[in-house]
Amino acid sequence: MELIFEIGAEGRKLSLLPECDVPETAMPDSLSRTAAPHLPQLSENEISRHYTKLAERTHGVNNGFYPLGSCTMKYNPKVDEEAAALPGFNRVHPLQNEKTVQGSMAVMKKLQDSLAEITGMDEFTLQPAAGAHGEFTGLLLIKSYHTDRGDTKRNKIIVPDSAHGTNPASAAMCGFEVVSIPSAEDGCVDLEALKAAVGDDTAGLMLTNPNTVGLFDKNITEITRIVHEAGGLCYYDGANLNAVMGIVRPGDMGFDCVHVNLHKTFSTPHGGGGPGSGPVGCKDFLKDFLPGYRIREDEYGYHYSIADKTMGAVKMFHGNFLVIVRALTYIMTLGKEGIPEASSNAVLNANYLRKKLDDVYTMAYDTTCMHEFVMDIADLLHETGCSALDVAKAMLDYGIHPPTMYFPLIVHEALMVEPCETEPREVLDSFADCLHEIYKEAHDHPENLHSAPHHAAIGRPDEVEAARHPVVRYSWDD
Ligand SMILES: *Cc1c(COP(=O)(O)O)cnc(C)c1O
Repeated sequence: MELIFEIGAEGRKLSLLPECDVPETAMPDSLSRTAAPHLPQLSENEISRHYTKLAERTHGVNNGFYPLGSCTMKYNPKVDEEAAALPGFNRVHPLQNEKTVQGSMAVMKKLQDSLAEITGMDEFTLQPAAGAHGEFTGLLLIKSYHTDRGDTKRNKIIVPDSAHGTNPASAAMCGFEVVSIPSAEDGCVDLEALKAAVGDDTAGLMLTNPNTVGLFDKNITEITRIVHEAGGLCYYDGANLNAVMGIVRPGDMGFDCVHVNLHKTFSTPHGGGGPGSGPVGCKDFLKDFLPGYRIREDEYGYHYSIADKTMGAVKMFHGNFLVIVRALTYIMTLGKEGIPEASSNAVLNANYLRKKLDDVYTMAYDTTCMHEFVMDIADLLHETGCSALDVAKAMLDYGIHPPTMYFPLIVHEALMVEPCETEPREVLDSFADCLHEIYKEAHDHPENLHSAPHHAAIGRPDEVEAARHPVVRYSWDD
């Protein structure tokens, strides 16, 4: 496909600039260009076709099934977009006088309160811009707590090996030493290993629950008890809240702080690099360290306030405000009954699919799962030479976005499938048919799988090269 620089022609243009509504001033010579920039020159029609072509080459939830494990690629209701597009929300400025933005402040307060209710926490900050950013913020809360008490020897964060990859990374970024503990046979935290790891240098534990193999840790209250007894705090990675919202609450299971991913569970389109939002909730005893503005309500309305011992700001102003609007719209349209129903259906869909596939595919953990499950392609690889990568590539020809591959690391040929609650049964059935056909092809004509996909725009790019040396700049010939 041609790049935008390769289409159009000299002099072709479109100018629909609004009237200037500020006084015009001359640009100082020192800041002016000496030559005109190279810019594409296109008519509106050409621009429209160009971006439509690009969109057609992109796979999204609106095109088809997207069971990308750990990412919760659910369908995002259009009404959430409509709310975020209202001019009263998207034309406000964070430095406006609070009297003029009471509606927006009400949205933030209501979302903070709703998330606190859903997670069993007391307070929330909406500032963090992503899940990993939320983890970093939560760990700073833990660090602030120990430092404030003068307990400076607590420099270790315990992270089970079934945690999301961002957990150890965030702990290291925060200056903690990461202590990794292995999972037991059943995929849950090994309690003996945990007991051996805790001590008076334990700052806390980060638990991804349901974990990256899609299991709810059956010892969860025992885990938080052990960590608390050693003087550490417990952090709940709630990015997978889609499996449990409205059913159980991290706060009731002994956790002191939590992040949630609004761009996964609470319906903001994601996958294109943002914007996202990873609000962090905490129990009362940590709230004085929270970052950014808190929103307080009294008889005169809503006010900004800053926590007493705040860690500062982790992002400007109120985080990604329009994501906050979408999340609140989503929560309010689902309501108290709809939220647990969404989770139940997410879990039902995952288990339905798991049972449809376990006749020929090996499951990494052969037990009831939560919102996702991990297939282990090692047996197929052994029998036919076809790997998890081959199976994933073959799916592209069926118009399906492949599941997450080679993650979690504890399953070597992993395909991690998260169907989400928004898929109807027919889609799940046709996905299962597709995987059965691929299984047969792997035995009959494995070479076809090695060379798949056969109908996608790009087949097998050099992913390492693309990640390490991306060519993101167009070079003009002259
Ligand atoms: C996605 C995810 C994260 C990270 O969230 P980002 O918004 O991508 O930074 C953390 N933990 C879990 C369990 C996740 O699924």
